[in-house]
Amino acid sequence: MKKVLFVILILILVLSGIVLVNTLTFTSRQLDVAEQPMPDYDYEEAAYRLGEAVRIPTISTEDTTLRDVAAFEAFIRFAERTYPLVHRQLEREIVNGYSLLFTWPGTDASLDPWLLMGHYDVVPVEPSSVANWDYDPFGGVIADGYIWGRGTLDDKITVMGVFEAVEWLLAEGLEPKRTLQLAFGHDEEIGGEKGAKAIASLLESRGVRLAMVLDEGGLVIEGEMPGIDAPVAMIGTSEKGYLNLELIAEDEGGHSSMPPSITASGRIARAVARLQENPMPASLSAGAPMFSYLVPEMGFGQRLALGNTWLFGPVIRKQLEASPSTNAIIRTTTAPTMLAGSQKPNVLPSRATAVVNFRLLPGDDMESVVRHVERSIDDPLVVVEPMGAFSPASPVSDTETPAFDLLHRSIKGFYPQAYIAPYLVMGATDARHFTGISDQVFRFMPVQIHNDDLVRLHGTNERVSVQGYARSIAFYRHLIMEIENL
Ligand SMILES: [Zn+2]
Repeated sequence: MKKVLFVILILILVLSGIVLVNTLTFTSRQLDVAEQPMPDYDYEEAAYRLGEAVRIPTISTEDTTLRDVAAFEAFIRFAERTYPLVHRQLEREIVNGYSLLFTWPGTDASLDPWLLMGHYDVVPVEPSSVANWDYDPFGGVIADGYIWGRGTLDDKITVMGVFEAVEWLLAEGLEPKRTLQLAFGHDEEIGGEKGAKAIASLLESRGVRLAMVLDEGGLVIEGEMPGIDAPVAMIGTSEKGYLNLELIAEDEGGHSSMPPSITASGRIARAVARLQENPMPASLSAGAPMFSYLVPEMGFGQRLALGNTWLFGPVIRKQLEASPSTNAIIRTTTAPTMLAGSQKPNVLPSRATAVVNFRLLPGDDMESVVRHVERSIDDPLVVVEPMGAFSPASPVSDTETPAFDLLHRSIKGFYPQAYIAPYLVMGATDARHFTGISDQVFRFMPVQIHNDDLVRLHGTNERVSVQGYARSIAFYRHLIMEIENL
């Protein structure tokens, strides 16, 4: 008996030792970088120009025949007028009518070019929400220290910020060693097929390999990460995939007074319920890169738990599963969205359907999702068919590279209080179209905002502070100058 107790005691000691060592041996991955001074520039004027860009309603509509073509043409002319050096000294190509590709040739042709990208189309403003805006969503108003309107965050800020930085550097006479390309899409909000995707294909057909791609994506976010007080600069290193599956049940139909034991609608409802009860398996590995950058900065308790996922994995998973935003980090999500059955209360459906939207983790593909769905539904009379555009999860860009390092240093220079963290982007960006011609595709916007303000993207009262916009222009300028050191 004594012997057994002794062995248990030893085991507990060894386990505690491992847990403690794992907790205490974290080393910070945050680089120590001196703060960059803000260079002199007329940032007020720049803010005014962003306001002007907002006033041009380049709204993307699902039905592209409804596109306000004049607005897109007006934006292109506005850019020509506003950034004369860019248009004089860089080569511009217009792709599919409205997307813009600029090339600023470097002096060293042996270096792979790099690409800064964004999109100048915006999502519409829900008519019912217009009254809730403090300022006209397409007014480009500057008030209370902010530039207000649709596109100030998503994503005219990127397009205009990059234009400003390049125009500025051209005025200063910079001659870059490495070729810089700029890609500004016109249809990101509806998938980017004619814009970014076409530009990527064009570059691929020319045999271009890009040393680095930087698109919109994560921001410098305050108040988001439990256990971390500092803002976190989220750099997207991959993005989730996108898949719609249609579930279809067919039946004879007829009058509802003598129904079969289960109708086509009932069958679909049951299938949907089974799917909801059987989510795709969770995996902590998709969050691992982010944790490796943030856990060392957390308190003892969190380091203890997150540093020992071999022991606390199930508990951590439960916690992450509890909220939709963290659940989405650890699994391919299942979202039944559209349901259809009979058109009349007393008519049996001859066909009932459901559409389920999946956002895929890297590692899952269409096949594995369909297999999981069919197994969960377990009903041969429900047909599962892919519907519409499918995009796989993008490859994960490595963070142990000079390009990520450069991004890390540049961000720290302008946001010295922020912690850097790579992460998996939940939505889709145009960046995914470029993963075929670059291994280093990052999604980051140099803007600091509070977590509570994220709803403004695609929502009401979208805005960016004049100071925040200034910092992002200075960041792009700095990055363009520093890229020589890549
Ligand atoms: Zn966007």
